[in-house]
Amino acid sequence: MNSILQHDLNDLENILNQAKQQGIDFLNNLENIPTSKKESIDPTRELNELGLGSIVALAEFKERLAPLMVASPGPRYLGFVTGGSTPASIVGDWLASVYDQNTQSIKGQGGNSALIEFETINLLLQLLNLPDSFLGGFVTGATMSNFTCLGVARQWFGAQSGKDFAKNGISETINILSATPHSSSIKTLSMLGIGSNNYTTIKTIEGNREAIDIADLEQNIQNLNGKPFILISSAGTVNTADFDDFQAISKLREKYNFWWHIDAAFGGFAAVSDRYKHFVEGWEGADSITIDCHKWLNVPYESAFYLIKKEHTNLQIETFQNSNAPYLGNPLENFNYLNVLPENSRRLRALPVWFSLLAYGKEGFQDVIENSAYLAMHFGNALIENGNFELLAPIRLNNVCFTLKGNHNQEKVSEFLTTLNDRGKVFMTPTVYQNRKGIRASFVNWRTTEDDVKIIIEELKETILDLEI
Ligand SMILES: *Cc1c(COP(=O)(O)O)cnc(C)c1O
Repeated sequence: MNSILQHDLNDLENILNQAKQQGIDFLNNLENIPTSKKESIDPTRELNELGLGSIVALAEFKERLAPLMVASPGPRYLGFVTGGSTPASIVGDWLASVYDQNTQSIKGQGGNSALIEFETINLLLQLLNLPDSFLGGFVTGATMSNFTCLGVARQWFGAQSGKDFAKNGISETINILSATPHSSSIKTLSMLGIGSNNYTTIKTIEGNREAIDIADLEQNIQNLNGKPFILISSAGTVNTADFDDFQAISKLREKYNFWWHIDAAFGGFAAVSDRYKHFVEGWEGADSITIDCHKWLNVPYESAFYLIKKEHTNLQIETFQNSNAPYLGNPLENFNYLNVLPENSRRLRALPVWFSLLAYGKEGFQDVIENSAYLAMHFGNALIENGNFELLAPIRLNNVCFTLKGNHNQEKVSEFLTTLNDRGKVFMTPTVYQNRKGIRASFVNWRTTEDDVKIIIEELKETILDLEI
């Protein structure tokens, strides 16, 4: 063994303790760490011939790299849809690295850690009140989950006319309908060889809505003259957290032949709260669902899962199987994750979620969801009271889409946001909603409190004064 490696092995306890301390220092100080930073490094560092050992590398990390880190897991980082990490989720994440399993099979030789993944998916189904007719697994994010689900949908589409697209390539136009797909679904269409231009945009409900207009959907279905199609629907659009009507879509399924996918990356967690679960009523009828854990479940990156109905497992294996051998018999008998999703080698990504669900239970996550929604509403009210802002859409759940009041201020929105973000106390992202420039604040972090909203409002006021708006 290389002598530096040998030294590190002997010093393991000390090394991990120092790393732990580094983590504690960051997490206990999150409130004071800026949400944006100007620090930078010259990324052309030369690789040294002789290793430094972990302790010296950690010292360099602390000095050069740690200063780059922003408080993105902190309570006032409202950009994109960014969660933090609960203590239990960090435990699970650390231990996933420590145990370093290659999570593949549910029984047999060489490891059966996929059983932990099965158990975790089962716990998630209970949390979300979904039936066990779904088979699920973990991937890096909602983008890859959409890719997995729509990959199987593509295979299903081919099968409707006796074709095997996975084996022979796509040989006909795949009909895809969607009203407000997330950009990652469009990226997925490009990655799947379907083409990012090749979908039909369905109208949204008249008025200030992003949800699908069911009458227009049905009209477009009828235009297909009985041909099969894939519907990409939304449980929580990023701008305004709007939801398609899943009960109405369920009714359409009785009449028409289509694959129904739901992107519920963050909005799926509405199911956890009695107050908001009506948004997802009927979603159990979908063929596939995408859900992120590194957003509202507040586990570290990278963590998302897909749910695909068990009746489609053979199509899923046709899409992702890792050998050309035909799959024989019951797919669950020789189950191996590498045959049902994009990755082959994979970490025990379920573990942070498993720890979180055991540690905080249904009630813990119900509280997180309801607290986020309450704070979004509270923030929205404070914006209106302030008088310098207007909401671009009603607040349905956790996302607040707003702008500077008045059309004459439209050209000031991006300077306003840049100035606000540069101050480092809060971070939000720009958006365009119904042709107006806006700002989006997404409440998903478990740490955010009313005091944070107070600080955020103060920051907005200061920025208004700064820019003399
Ligand atoms: C965040 C998000 C995605 C993409 O998720 P990643 O985890 O970043 O890959 C997809 N759909 C929706 C609705 C999202 O909010």
